[in-house]
Amino acid sequence: MSQKLPSVIEKTQEDLKKDAKIRELWMKNICDHDKHAKFKIKETYDFIIVGAGTAGCVLARELIHGIPNINILVLEAGGPNVHANGIISLPCTWFKAFRLYDCDWGYVTQEQKMKSHVNPTKEVTVKKGIPYPRGKVWGGCSSLNAMVYMRGQAKQYNDMAAQGPEYKIWDWDHCLEAFKALENNSRENPNEKFKQLHGFNGLHHVQDPHNGAYDIMSDLIDAAKNLGIPYNDDFNGERQNGVGRFQFTNEKGKRCSLADGFLRDALKKVEFHPGSEPNGFGKVVAVDVRSYAHVLEIIWDEENKKENIAIGVRYFCNGNVREAFIAPKGEVIICSGAINSPQILMLSGVGPKKNLEENNIKVRKELPVGRNLLDHPGCCFIAKSDPNTIHHWSSGCEIGIIHKANVEGKIPCKEEFFDENPDLQTIAMPLRPGLVDGLNVDGILLWSILNVPSSVGYLELDSNNPFDQPRIHLNYFEKSDDLYRMISSLKLSREILKQPPMSTVYNVKEIGINYTNGDDISDEDWEKFVLEKSVTTFHPGGTVKMAPESNGGVVNHRLQVYGTKNLRVVDASIFPYIPSGNTNAPTAMVAWRASRLIFEDYTRKNSL
Ligand SMILES: Cc1cc2nc3c(=O)[nH]c(=O)nc-3n(C[C@H](O)[C@H](O)[C@H](O)COP(=O)(O)OP(=O)(O)OC[C@H]3O[C@@H](n4cnc5c(N)ncnc54)[C@H](O)[C@@H]3O)c2cc1C
Repeated sequence: MSQKLPSVIEKTQEDLKKDAKIRELWMKNICDHDKHAKFKIKETYDFIIVGAGTAGCVLARELIHGIPNINILVLEAGGPNVHANGIISLPCTWFKAFRLYDCDWGYVTQEQKMKSHVNPTKEVTVKKGIPYPRGKVWGGCSSLNAMVYMRGQAKQYNDMAAQGPEYKIWDWDHCLEAFKALENNSRENPNEKFKQLHGFNGLHHVQDPHNGAYDIMSDLIDAAKNLGIPYNDDFNGERQNGVGRFQFTNEKGKRCSLADGFLRDALKKVEFHPGSEPNGFGKVVAVDVRSYAHVLEIIWDEENKKENIAIGVRYFCNGNVREAFIAPKGEVIICSGAINSPQILMLSGVGPKKNLEENNIKVRKELPVGRNLLDHPGCCFIAKSDPNTIHHWSSGCEIGIIHKANVEGKIPCKEEFFDENPDLQTIAMPLRPGLVDGLNVDGILLWSILNVPSSVGYLELDSNNPFDQPRIHLNYFEKSDDLYRMISSLKLSREILKQPPMSTVYNVKEIGINYTNGDDISDEDWEKFVLEKSVTTFHPGGTVKMAPESNGGVVNHRLQVYGTKNLRVVDASIFPYIPSGNTNAPTAMVAWRASRLIFEDYTRKNSL
């Protein structure tokens, strides 16, 4: 008889006691170590970057190569992205990588109760505890993500730019310049249009699927085409709508995170300038990345309290609380992602007054930090096929079906398939046995994702302990159009699976919706299904919104935090509108554009 192994870590009381004892011994050692720490020099850098994720890696590289004679400290709460067995770099293991104990912040969401949209006399619930993975490793989420390369439509960038004349630096033309500068696309024989819209010399490698596609997935494209959905061979081309294959942020079939592409290149620059610092130790012109360094808060200049001048950060590393400072013309740049950047601001006294005061934090500047939490909810159902139709090398997300959804929850019509501002993305994934807990079948998973959601969530501090999780309120489907658009897309997915050859050759049978039999699913059952099965598709943003302060902004068009000095936020949290695609490339784009703004401001300050 085979023994069933536990799939989760279960520690006994005895184990926990032993762990606590070891922690105690470690603490004692740290105290002894502190007593000898008298001769340490004050750490001073031109730029301190908090977080070596997508944005932090791009920024470190662009600044160190763009501005002469600077030094940069990058503080990263996680460790290097080198995993001995290559689990991070192998595309087919991404589904496991983000569940790794020490590479993920391990966030979960709050329970959500609201009135049913179908039957408003009833209350419905989105359960508490939806896992909300965030990378805690060099490369941040780009080291754990599904590697789909998608910029989203021009519209959201142009909306961002329409917030005032000074926001023009964020219009599509400016963003496209950055996307192209970052990208190194290896498509074979690209056509002229592809050449115009893509970059081929950047450090972020993008490629078509390395291993071709399964027959069943190619046939899925035909099934979608049978229903009138146009084929699209470039979701980052002139139009986003249609059915086609994704491109991936891979190099030679392996993950290319922003740490692989950009941080690695940033680390190549090391120069020593003896005697150029007042302390006589000389200046090392380089990027210094400190791993397992958890930033606790911003250090403010207490002599000029009213001005809120950031002068450094306090962080926890190797059992010690340490401080690092910026040079007189330097900056602290928070790149800690859409959950942690707002948390660091709030812990430092920048945020909503009520939530800060509840947590005994002195308010330095009242701003709506943590509001405007935007995300792409996803809901999937599963169809099983004949055995042995699925193999094991796939990265998972193979096919995209991008369309405008129907706001009444009907199957979209032809016009909606051709609409140039699609709002729904369905990812088709080959389902291998074991990919979804308890399902030992071959098949297809169709994951509908609301690319342009109307509902907006928020996050807030639960305590003033920097190691505590903030409370994440997603507010998924709070607006009824989100629910009906999701239902519309799920109905379309069912229709696609009914088409030959899916139903005929592969014997595909839907096993996702269990409430009623056959096609006749009531709206009430659809709502129940959507609320029960929806999860994040890992794209939070917007919590440190770039907008005029009068319009709920936390940072201005140059990403400087209102009411402070020497402080910027550069990452996915600054999006006022969430990109209508996946968020890795857009976040890298934000960092590239920010590096140019920082360069301009630094040069201006130095010429004064
Ligand atoms: C499982 C998963 C799948 C995804 N799939 C895709 C996809 O296929 N395509 C796509 O385009 N996007 C995808 N995304 C989203 C995309 O990767 C992210 O939007 C993007 O990487 C966000 O970049 P960021 O710089 O804002 O934050 P992050 O990349 O999260 O970087 C933040 C960094 O800051 C560090 N940090 C946080 N707090 C502190 C602190 N207090 N002190 C020090 N360091 C700190 C973190 O450890 C992290 O390294 C996915 C994300 C996940 C999690």
